Amino acid sequence: MRPLVAHIDLDALRHNYRLACEAAPDSRAVAVIKADAYGHGALACARALSRAAKPAPAFAVACLEEAVALREGSVKAPIMLLEGIFEAAELEQVDALGLWLAVHSQWQVDALLAFAPRAPITVWLKVDSGMHRLGFPPPLVPAVWSRLAAAKEHVTQLHLMSHFATADSADERYLQEQMRCLQALAEQLQAPSCLANSPATLGWPVTHGAWNRPGVMLYGSDPLEVPNALSRRLEPVMTLRSRIIAVRELDAGEPVGYGGRWRASRPSRIGVVACGYGDGYDRHARDGTPVLVDGRRAPLAGKVSMDMLTVDITDHPVADIGSEVVLWGRADNGAVLSVDEVARYCDTISYTLLTGVLPRVPRRYH
Ligand code: PLP
Repeated sequence: MRPLVAHIDLDALRHNYRLACEAAPDSRAVAVIKADAYGHGALACARALSRAAKPAPAFAVACLEEAVALREGSVKAPIMLLEGIFEAAELEQVDALGLWLAVHSQWQVDALLAFAPRAPITVWLKVDSGMHRLGFPPPLVPAVWSRLAAAKEHVTQLHLMSHFATADSADERYLQEQMRCLQALAEQLQAPSCLANSPATLGWPVTHGAWNRPGVMLYGSDPLEVPNALSRRLEPVMTLRSRIIAVRELDAGEPVGYGGRWRASRPSRIGVVACGYGDGYDRHARDGTPVLVDGRRAPLAGKVSMDMLTVDITDHPVADIGSEVVLWGRADNGAVLSVDEVARYCDTISYTLLTGVLPRVPRRYH
């Protein structure tokens, strides 16, 4: 079998979830498992978090299809649709499956109030406090809130929700601006809120509401520009692991791979690793992007191909065909290569690397 596997450590997932709870002891954490739990497998992650000593009280996904898959997999906890419905007809299933609904646009409110649910629906009224993506502008919120609050046959619990644009940054000015707007609304409406994503959960206690919505931190990626004592305790959940499948001996001056981007500056050994952009590894990875070969760092050498990448193992004399290569995560000897570090070499963020691991890479759960 091709040796590339994404190993998913469910204990690490539970550890990171506990950390989200520890960071915000007075809040409840909705575990964000959209985009197939950021590439880790939504059903497996939801089941693991449901069976934890401290079970996740609710999950969040982007769309109805993701929620249906979880219910079909017997996930019983409440599931929040972060973007609400995309068309009114979805309300049938929202009602039938007992989903929690975000509403960010007037047409969604109108559709909800024109629909007769079997049981009133839990609603999260989304405020655009500065992201300028989804949500009601703050001056419109009180009127929408009153309409929803009065519609007892349609709406049961009503909360405010919003999303931060800059919570990962050490510069708190914009976050504070968003918070001023949200605190004013929460006080005026006496509303419970759900605001904090991972960086806000880890770094900004002022944002912690009745509920938080951590996502990427659950998977062990540190979202903070400047790590803190809590974020340093995150554990990697996914280890993308493969093996060296061939070794090339090169003379000084010989190139490797498409375009000959990398050229040997000395007699070199190149390990060919079974992992490429056809598996989701980022093709923009620069020369020097680290991997772990038998638990020790080695640099990427040459452009990533569809099914392979090449690594300079000149300084790894015992590395050979069959040697373990960790693209990110934890090696057998315990060494860790964070997905955040790999992302920096690819000029991207951990979110795209994790969600980008393609279906042909088997997930193995531990
Ligand atoms: N809430 C909303 C509305 C989101 O879109 C996201 C992720 O994109 C999250 C929460 C979780 O964010 P993070 O993964 O940064 O914790």
